Amino acid sequence: MKSPNLTLINSQNTAKSPLYQQRTEKDHTDQSGHVHLMGAGPGDPDLITVKALKLLKSADAIVYDRLANSDLLAHAQSHCDLIYVGKKKDQHSLPQQQICELLAALARCGKQVVRLKGGDPFVFGRGGEEIDYLNRENIPCSVVPGITAAIGCAASTQIPLTHRDHAHAVTFITGHRQQGKMHINWDLALQKNSTVVFYMGLSNIGEITRQLLKRGCASTMPFAVVAQGTSTSQQVVVGTVGDIANRIKQSSMESPALLIMGEVVSANSYAQWLATGVLEDLSSVS
Ligand code: SAH
Repeated sequence: MKSPNLTLINSQNTAKSPLYQQRTEKDHTDQSGHVHLMGAGPGDPDLITVKALKLLKSADAIVYDRLANSDLLAHAQSHCDLIYVGKKKDQHSLPQQQICELLAALARCGKQVVRLKGGDPFVFGRGGEEIDYLNRENIPCSVVPGITAAIGCAASTQIPLTHRDHAHAVTFITGHRQQGKMHINWDLALQKNSTVVFYMGLSNIGEITRQLLKRGCASTMPFAVVAQGTSTSQQVVVGTVGDIANRIKQSSMESPALLIMGEVVSANSYAQWLATGVLEDLSSVS
């Protein structure tokens, strides 16, 4: 397996240059294919970077996931291949290895490939595996960050994740089960003066809150669940660790959803208003 040749560029002498410029054998061939591993943001299609938008408009192929807003595909050129590789829970429409191989094959044909992933590609997005594969295969590739769901949902619900009176840290944890088991570091989740955001935790919310209470979390600790965050169909349910699982049972919430726990959930007047009950369709609230 050949490894890519990484050249360190002195950032002081090369204004506007990236710290690392990656050169591969392919850079000097006529195959100018490149994979841009790109974050599509959390739902609202306007929450994408200018750089991402430019690359979407010039791509020859866009390989996209279920969580990337499909409205973004409207920016593609008419000849651009649009390839859906979306995954459903416990089920991949295309196995990860084949997604990696597809990206490499498209780039080897000389295409400018956008690999569009929901949120940020490196936050619970398997972007690490894809970029590692591409580098090992000597495929020119780069990463364009996106707004991860936690940041997007915090903004759209006005929950200040690190309000200085309430939280000195914020932790992102996966609430997903792997082979039937949750791998949550409960000490991390129970740190004082911190906010915890659980990704992929909606279907396990009963078990997550039970474990938190069992390990000493106050049942009154504020807790919010945000589904379809930042989109026009955003839903928010606010409660406490003690009652949120029941509130969710009674709601019609559907994934993707984030769980946000911490004093910050009730840290400002807007959040306190949210805490009065279930609020659907935040798009009408300014
Ligand atoms: N890379 C993505 C996360 C992928 S994991 C990112 O950076 O955001 C998928 C999980 O992200 C979902 O189960 C859910 O917990 C969260 N998520 C993604 N989009 C969301 C949205 N619009 N609203 C709420 N949660 C979302």
